[in-house]
Amino acid sequence: MDTADDAASRLALLVEHFRQHPVTGPEGHSFTSSASQPTRTTAATPVNLAIVDHISASVRELADYTHTVNTAADPLPEDAAAVYAWCVANTRNTPEAEQQRRDSIVYRQRLEHAICAGDYSVIPPHRCPACRTFGLMWRVSQGRAVCTNRRCVDRDGMSRAWSLGRLAYEHVQSQSKIRSRRAT
Ligand SMILES: [Zn+2]
Repeated sequence: MDTADDAASRLALLVEHFRQHPVTGPEGHSFTSSASQPTRTTAATPVNLAIVDHISASVRELADYTHTVNTAADPLPEDAAAVYAWCVANTRNTPEAEQQRRDSIVYRQRLEHAICAGDYSVIPPHRCPACRTFGLMWRVSQGRAVCTNRRCVDRDGMSRAWSLGRLAYEHVQSQSKIRSRRAT
């Protein structure tokens, strides 16, 4: 499955999750009201609101990007998950460097959707950009992927930590190197 398809299906899962657990009423927005109802899943509502924000921010970012590089783009599809195929189709004729930029955004969003759904297994398959070893772990408190190689530290002796954007950039660069090696 290619990255755009995978990003689309992961976003579709988030949309589906939100449909099944909608925010129903004003009491659902309160952190304190759930305290008197111990049987309720107290985290449900804030998570749902975060998912709604996440979905719309993702779609908006792709739409803005596409309109910047192609002012004559087709109308934005209504289905959130369809925005990936739409973005790729409407940026197909841009220069190679621009397509890599697009691929980095799509790949980063794929990682973001997984993290948003609590699936951190998307992180370990990446090499650390500094020491090139495997062993990156997602650290929720930092919102970053941290290198677990004890010798891989910055000038302050702290473990190196990477944004999803950096991991996506590295991934797309390595894919393009593999492609150009095959082409020669
Ligand atoms: Zn490292």
